[in-house]
Amino acid sequence: MKVLLHICCSPCSVKCIEELKKDKIDVVGYWYNPNIHPYTEYRSRMNCLKDYSNSIGLEVIYNNEYGLVEFTKNVINNLKDRCSYCYSKRLEETANYAKENGYDAFTTTLLISPYQKHEDIKKMCEDLSKKYKIDFIYKDFRINFREGQNEARNLNLYMQKYCGCIYSEMERYLKKI
Ligand code: SF4
Repeated sequence: MKVLLHICCSPCSVKCIEELKKDKIDVVGYWYNPNIHPYTEYRSRMNCLKDYSNSIGLEVIYNNEYGLVEFTKNVINNLKDRCSYCYSKRLEETANYAKENGYDAFTTTLLISPYQKHEDIKKMCEDLSKKYKIDFIYKDFRINFREGQNEARNLNLYMQKYCGCIYSEMERYLKKI
């Protein structure tokens, strides 16, 4: 079974890839995260994935869209609910790409983070699975989150300090000031 794995960042991908491979799934990564800002941060996360995926022999497709302007235009009037827009943008693109390119199913590393809205992501993927007529592989990867983060640190992967968008960067650092 060939599965397209949406990858939000390398540290979150470590255990997801391992778990899927344990199930004998043929995994291909898909980078599509136009919500990561500023550009230097976007580039650091993407470059880290390039190095990491090369080191483990994982094929990754890069959809290199940097979407600061579109993202901010779409969420500025409802910042509290910005994550819904952010998830749907990334997941819809993933499901669509998977369908168009002959994959059997799709899934996402967003399902490993205890900081994300897990049930919302699951529901969104289930809906997209119906819309695009492609299977969604659901796994609650969260059980492996800490172990994956530790493994990523040991591998010297780039560890981000905030979720991704410019608003999450503000929230992270304003608390520290
Ligand atoms: S906090 Fe994270 S999930 Fe929410 S909008 Fe920002 S980058 Fe996306």
